Amino acid sequence: MTGFGTEEARRIVEGFRDDMERVLEGWWAQVQRLNEEFKQYSTIGSTVYDKRKAAARQRAYAEITTDPERAYPLAYLADAGLLPSYQFPTDTFSLDPGVDDTPTLFRPAGIGLEEFAPGNLVYANNHKLKTIRAIFAGSWSERGVAGVRSNLDSSGLARAFYFCGRCDMVTEEVRNDCPVCGEPMGRHVNVAFLSQFEAEDQARITSAEDVRERRRFDVRDRLVEEGETEVALFDYAFLPVEHRRMARILRTNWGRRDPVKGEGERFAICAECGRHRPADPDQAKRWEESHARFCPGVCEELVLGYEFRTDALVATVPPQPGSEGYDEALLVTAAEALLIAASTYLETEAYEISAFPRRTGADPETGAERPGQVVLYESVPGGAG
Ligand SMILES: [Zn+2]
Ligand SMILES: [Zn+2]
Repeated sequence: MTGFGTEEARRIVEGFRDDMERVLEGWWAQVQRLNEEFKQYSTIGSTVYDKRKAAARQRAYAEITTDPERAYPLAYLADAGLLPSYQFPTDTFSLDPGVDDTPTLFRPAGIGLEEFAPGNLVYANNHKLKTIRAIFAGSWSERGVAGVRSNLDSSGLARAFYFCGRCDMVTEEVRNDCPVCGEPMGRHVNVAFLSQFEAEDQARITSAEDVRERRRFDVRDRLVEEGETEVALFDYAFLPVEHRRMARILRTNWGRRDPVKGEGERFAICAECGRHRPADPDQAKRWEESHARFCPGVCEELVLGYEFRTDALVATVPPQPGSEGYDEALLVTAAEALLIAASTYLETEAYEISAFPRRTGADPETGAERPGQVVLYESVPGGAG
């Protein structure tokens, strides 16, 4: 593998101004949102519950404006994933705890996609927090006029993707058939690239409401299919490998895994205010009633996503002698084995390389099931070479 070339270095340097502006604009949007929400929750007739929400806004506001550690520009830019701190900068997800004694929580995006997902419980600072909402541009303003683009739409964070039902192909291009296995393509799925969430203290509201512990989510890793990709083929006898330069990796969370169907139930998120409607029918009914009092928005079925570009190796793993096609147990084992081998050989930390198995479906010409592949990639966005 090669490191950063002149071309890539130039792209990073030239993109710095835009990246910096994006982070600063995000900071300003945050300041405005906290101010607006503080006003909403601190009217003369506020309930105890609303007062607590207002106090949480005040704490969050102080954190990003005056706190000597968190608001310090270099620390803030590192938390936002723009500057390196003790490791390569990573994209981060944040969770506003919604309480006044706990600072904002940050996680690397790949982990936050599951940990901060709506409906999940997060334990922090003796609080049992539950994610109740996604935050995006405009999600605090009470709009939602019929026929006008929703706040989520105008934020540009939700995009249509097409997932093949037969193999692990995913693309953003509209196609009739899957470019990998030839299967007719179905409807699109809305993937929302949300990275800021808000939680609420559960223990102090009602403890009987949710006795479930951590949720099991349907998380899927995919290589995004693109028209032009730079591929170098290494035709090793038993393990042909492709090196894809700056491949697009998409990690999606399809919601709580349905114990019967085994698939994620997806997230019902209000396209105006970002609040998450619980899946349980009784809870959902109560949620609809209280939500309608302050927000005219409607919920959309979404899948949460996080994507980045990095160098990837795609190894085709031959089936065990005497068998053919995709063997899930073999692929999962091979992915883990290749991961251990690669990180031992390259002397990297456990989190710096990741791997996942990939189904390629049936050969469109012969109809025979093809063996699976292992995608091995650098988990540092952009790749460290
Ligand atoms: Zn396919
Ligand atoms: Zn709403």
